[in-house]
Amino acid sequence: MSGKRTSALQAVAVRLREIGTLRSVQATLSWDQETMMPPAAAEFRGEEMALLSTLIHSKATDPSLGDLVAAAGEQAEVREDESLQADLREIRRDYDNACKLPTELVSELALAGTRGLTAWKQAREESRFEIFQPHLDSLLELNRRKAACLNGDGGGEPYDALLDEFEPGMKSARVEALFAPLRRELVPLIEELAAAPDPPDAAMHTTPVPVDRQARYSREVAEAIGYDFSAGRLDVSTHPFTEGLAPGDTRITSRFQEAPFADGLGSTMHEAGHALYEQGLPKERFHGRPLSEAVSLGIHESQSRLWENQVGRSRSFWTWALPGASRTLGLKGLNLEQVYRAMNIVAPNLIRVESDEATYNLHIMLRFDLERAMLHGELATADLPGAWNERIRSDLGLTVPDDARGCLQDIHWSMGAIGYFPTYTLGNLYSAQIWEAVRRDLPDLDNRIGSGEFQPLLDWLREKIHRHGRRWPAEELGERVTGERLSHEPLMRYLRDKLRPVYRLSGS
Ligand code: ZN
Repeated sequence: MSGKRTSALQAVAVRLREIGTLRSVQATLSWDQETMMPPAAAEFRGEEMALLSTLIHSKATDPSLGDLVAAAGEQAEVREDESLQADLREIRRDYDNACKLPTELVSELALAGTRGLTAWKQAREESRFEIFQPHLDSLLELNRRKAACLNGDGGGEPYDALLDEFEPGMKSARVEALFAPLRRELVPLIEELAAAPDPPDAAMHTTPVPVDRQARYSREVAEAIGYDFSAGRLDVSTHPFTEGLAPGDTRITSRFQEAPFADGLGSTMHEAGHALYEQGLPKERFHGRPLSEAVSLGIHESQSRLWENQVGRSRSFWTWALPGASRTLGLKGLNLEQVYRAMNIVAPNLIRVESDEATYNLHIMLRFDLERAMLHGELATADLPGAWNERIRSDLGLTVPDDARGCLQDIHWSMGAIGYFPTYTLGNLYSAQIWEAVRRDLPDLDNRIGSGEFQPLLDWLREKIHRHGRRWPAEELGERVTGERLSHEPLMRYLRDKLRPVYRLSGS
């Protein structure tokens, strides 16, 4: 009897490893598409991706897999193995969700995503929203159908069904409950900083630095914080990203412009933070199984933000980094205080990915509101540019000069990813909360970072977060790690405590 059950567990593991391996192939193609692929290959790549999606989907929904999962679940119950039970819980969840989606819809979504991406690239280049608009319409329609399938007869918010794919367990009502107080406290802080009489000097950000020097320095920093180049690589792409392709293969990309050099470094540290999480997941052992996967995009983003912001914009980081940066980048005449202050300038920016830690969250709230309105049919896609521009004016006080720097700036909607954006601010909330916990546990952290010792921090993250994969849902993981429920408060404490002194504002 127990032999038979053991084989059910093993059989599930073998099936999932096969699905995981097909996903690795898909990830490799997608990495290639963003970095190396010639434009003329786009149409056929769409076919390749759609075929792989269909293959993966039919394997993931195979009824015999369902039987094996049920049998394996019975075994997990009698064994008192908490991680095995968590694995089976998540395997069952994935299987049930996959079974709710018809194969044709999965394939249509994949194809529409590839076409949408191509159209968006052209639309963005020419700054003509009307090129992308019909694709956005069909992607929204497909997403409405997807949400209806996922929600089933139980009804429920369409947006929640989509959000759940990126941030399992999260609901839009909970996002609203987190975002509203954040906004209430963030806006006055931003206004206070804007009115400060002695703001940081921004001259550092207009000093040109050759991009090859930046690429070299970024590599040094990524290596110093623990990114393993023997299991990864750093390339250049229009939109920096991290792709965990397979066990032993986590690649990052960055982008560099002569000024500000801090953007390229920041995006490298950001992606390296994602990659450290990927490299810390137990992939060799559990390839294809939930225990080897990131728990949610919010937690993923917390790892990238923590390295980019909490570390990369800290005084202790620059205490270590400044001599090397001056040498490799050829910076002259900058002292620690100037660099530290310049790294923490808060100024509204039209572009989300170039925004500072504070105003960034207003960009996310805008996208969260607009994508929900479009999905629910309350905002016609033809009215998106106008709604976008109006919101940028009221939230950031800026005028959008063209759609390329407005509603066409992000890649997400072009691939059909609706419900993705809130995970960025959730990541900011998690990163601030995790940072408070690390600092409680490692009182010596500033000194260690100041002398270029990043290992204690990485070890802590590995131990508390990375190695667990999807063992606990994101919010539960956050509570276990920090002892507190997710809220806006740690992020606001972090921003106030850092930015007010940077702007030489006293009191609190
Ligand atoms: Zn990220």
